[in-house]
This record gives sequence, structure tokens and C-alpha cells, in this order.
Amino acid sequence: MRLILFGPPGAGKGTQAEAIRDEFSVVHISTGDIFRDNVGNDTELGRRAKRYMDRGDLVPDDIVIAMIDDRLRQSDAAGGFLLDGFPRTVAQAEALDDVLARDGHGIDGVLRLRVGDDELVARLLQRAREQGRADDTRDVVENRLSVYRAETEPLVDFYRTRGVLHEIDGTGTIDEVRDRVLSSIHDLRGRA
Ligand code: AMP
Repeated sequence: MRLILFGPPGAGKGTQAEAIRDEFSVVHISTGDIFRDNVGNDTELGRRAKRYMDRGDLVPDDIVIAMIDDRLRQSDAAGGFLLDGFPRTVAQAEALDDVLARDGHGIDGVLRLRVGDDELVARLLQRAREQGRADDTRDVVENRLSVYRAETEPLVDFYRTRGVLHEIDGTGTIDEVRDRVLSSIHDLRGRA
């Protein structure tokens, strides 16, 4: 299965990705986690990405695409994967199509977690208090949401047109959302 977990910052992608990985033993690839690891290890990639991340802006497409291309070539991703936080622009989605088409593959499903704006901001500010993520301050949170609306939300139509979009209510408890997410994947596997 080649899946994308899609939604605004604060929708619960990271949490639900872990539940999906545990249920389906699929490789979880989070571009945000890869960037944070690189920032933590002070690599060249981390130094290039950090100033965008600190402002809540997107890291430029060429950097992200090169990184994901490299990651998807690793052998553990050959049988399938769950992408979390990628793609975030139409250019990234097109590049992903090209990378997969090289091996005759495509995306099987895009799971879109839907959560209202007020709840997103509340969740992100709570995460700031609990985890101390540098990009969870109010100004940066608001910028990340507006970047999401402008750059990333157009992908909803991109994937809807391809018939792979699955809308999931992302409100309620973590367990409630997990049940919806897992049953949506069981459904799409059943249809495959
Ligand atoms: P995340 O943990 O997915 O919210 O990502 C944290 C930050 O990493 C984002 O605010 C961006 O600055 C950067 N980032 C992660 N994934 C991408 C991507 N696909 N395209 C551009 N920037 C990204």
C-alpha cells in the first residue's frame, strides 16, 4: 500500500500515522521528522531547512523532493509506505507521481483528516506547551495554517480528481479518529 496521510498542521497526522504503522506494518515516512532529525544533528540539510521551519514556511520544493526521492529509494520503502507531511505542494505531488511511475507504481489512497481552525490552533498551542516544539508559537502556528491553505489545500482537488481521496472526520478523541482511519484503510484495501 502506498498511502498519504493528509491534513493541516495539528490535525493529528503524526499520532494517527503511528496507529496505521502498528496496524498494517507499513513504513512511516514523515518529512517533518526527517527535517527535525537533520536540524538536531546539525547536518547540511538541517541547516538549509531550519530557517524555513522556524518561520513556519515550507522548505523549498527542490530540497524536499530530492530528500523524499532518496528516502523512497531505500529498500524498506519498496513494498509500500505511509507518507506524513508530504506532499505539501502541487509540484511535490507531481514529483511524487514521477518517482513512483519509474517503478510502475502510484498512490493507492490519500486519507484526509478534517479538523476546524479553532480546534487546530488550540491543539497546536497545547502541543507547544507539552512538547516545546520551536514552531508551535502562536505567530508561527498562524503562518503554518495560512501556508497550508494557500499551498497545500489545492492538493485536495488534485487527489479527488484522481479518485484516491478519502475524507475522515478528525475531531473527537484520538481513539475515535484512529477507528475511523483504520476502517477507511481496511475499506480501501478491501476494494483493491
Ligand atoms: P511537520 O512536522 O510535518 O509539521 O513539518 C514541520 C516543518 O517542516 C514544516 O512547517 C515545514 O517547514 C517543513 N516541512 C515538512 N514537510 C515539508 C514538505 N513536504 N514541504 C515543505 N516543507 C516541509
